[in-house]
Amino acid sequence: MCGIVGYVGPRNAAPLLMEGLRRLEYRGYDSAGIALTDGTGSPDVHIVRRVGPVANLAEAVDPASLGHTGIGHTRWATHGGVNEPNAHPHLDSTNRIAVVHNGIIENHAAIRALLEEEGVHFRSQTDTEVLPHLIRKFYRGDPLEAVRTALQAVQGTYGIAVTFADHPGVIIAARNGSPLVVGKGEGETFLASDPTALAGYTRQVMYLEDREIMRITAEGWELTRLDGGTISHAIEELAEDLVWSEKGDFQHHMLKEIHEQPESLRRCLSGRVVPEEGGARLGGLDLTTREIATISRVGVLGCGTSFHASLVGAAAMEQLARIPAFAEIASEFRYRNPVIDPSALFLAVSQSGETADTLGAVREVQVKGGRVMGVVNVVGSSIARACGRGVYVHSGPEIAVASTKAFTSQVAALLVASLMFGRTRHIAADEGRRFGNELLAVPDLVSRYLENPGAIDAAVEMVAGGKYVFFFGRGVSHAVAMEGALKLKEVAYIPCMSYPAAEMKHGPIALIDPTTPVVAIVPDDVMRDKTLSNVQEVKARGARTIIVHSEGDKDAAALADVSIPVPRTRSSLISPLLTVLPLQLIAYRAGLALGRNIDRPRNLAKSVTVE
Ligand code: GLU
Repeated sequence: MCGIVGYVGPRNAAPLLMEGLRRLEYRGYDSAGIALTDGTGSPDVHIVRRVGPVANLAEAVDPASLGHTGIGHTRWATHGGVNEPNAHPHLDSTNRIAVVHNGIIENHAAIRALLEEEGVHFRSQTDTEVLPHLIRKFYRGDPLEAVRTALQAVQGTYGIAVTFADHPGVIIAARNGSPLVVGKGEGETFLASDPTALAGYTRQVMYLEDREIMRITAEGWELTRLDGGTISHAIEELAEDLVWSEKGDFQHHMLKEIHEQPESLRRCLSGRVVPEEGGARLGGLDLTTREIATISRVGVLGCGTSFHASLVGAAAMEQLARIPAFAEIASEFRYRNPVIDPSALFLAVSQSGETADTLGAVREVQVKGGRVMGVVNVVGSSIARACGRGVYVHSGPEIAVASTKAFTSQVAALLVASLMFGRTRHIAADEGRRFGNELLAVPDLVSRYLENPGAIDAAVEMVAGGKYVFFFGRGVSHAVAMEGALKLKEVAYIPCMSYPAAEMKHGPIALIDPTTPVVAIVPDDVMRDKTLSNVQEVKARGARTIIVHSEGDKDAAALADVSIPVPRTRSSLISPLLTVLPLQLIAYRAGLALGRNIDRPRNLAKSVTVE
């Protein structure tokens, strides 16, 4: 959450910072601001801040503003309302030190009380504002030492960038739990919370690790640990395909990303599924067959959409590999003092690879001597680096806050891992070959469905008029129901509930009346008949039904007020890659019909880097 950018060099910083913020806006968009030093003509740090999207800030910033050093921020508020005084950058009382911050200062109340006793006047309600005042308190002329000393007093998570009016041409950056990356140009240096902001400017980057602090100038940077001691990390080359993704001809990133799924799935599967061997290869896991044979248990950890993908992954691990498996919400897992069996394998699923709750779960597994690997999209992200081993899902940059193509790629990657483990543990070559071939056929099926998605508009009319909407399914289709409900909440703000289909009669069916739309996910698998009975039960109470079912299933179609057929899969485990598609489209078009901010829904942000 929150985007941070910084620039030091010969160019005017303002337009570069604004472009960086525009690219990072999906990480938080409550308010935005920049701070400039070095050539502004003012003895103070020059700041501009605005509530709302980066476009509001752009109107207020003169692109010719002088200033060759600058920092910028897009906020996702954690402490203090969404208003201009709470927008970053925050200044010290003399207006000569500016700070942008991503994360939460957990002991801010105690620090604030102490500073107020010393006479400091606060101008915002944020946790962040303690930082510029603390830095001022410890400032004796050396910016790096002032920030380092201030951070000794701080508990919590942060990625920060700090500029000083007295030190034009210098940015101090530090990290503890929130990502930061520096990029080296020709006589200029860039800073960002996310490498997508650097694409097109430089490919030479270095990622900060936790409890590290750096002094950045146009010539480069010096890196030290917060508790002292110089260190260095190798400069890495950003992948060539790390380009900023534009919407192109699509009205929204979400729609574009829905339509990219044939391609993103192809990227995820290609070279990994090996039908001639009846199995799969995931080099990034770096596991020998002997190691796979001795895995006692698989735990799949994720949050939100990634948790829904984890549910499908855990089901696949049990069914294909016969390894006991479970999925759990990472934020719950990490704080329940879980028992970690050293021969278990944990998979941490996160699109951004920066999800603070999931990163915390990774650390919990590691502290207890367990094995954990990442299933992430963003190359070089914190989870990927903390795990060291894992699977990149290769869905390409996902910009819309509501995840679509990352979900299907996560599911696909987990199915590939399950096939690989399955071939070693349980299934014969011919069964593995059938499953592998079916997986490889999915991108074409997705493409065929998206060309002719069926009665989405009729479904939208039904859900957009309802007080609330129920989603249900069984097995992996329950995970899809959860994902469909989450999408509709996120993008259209329609209250939704999702249940395993059989649970309806244990209570929630009390809410069904003739105004309630019910979306049932009923692929033609072993659970089909049972789920159709559950559809009958809600229909008997007047519910209107949208049924997502396999092509050619006449009984399912006949039960539906709105019938949405999707291409058939032989394996039920593969069906989520198809049954989720209409639910993504329903959410998108419902959001559109209700005039919602589709790519940037209220109160949300991409890449949830706070706990
Ligand atoms: N906790 C800070 C605030 O509420 C930073 C939030 C962010 O990461 O955007 O302002």
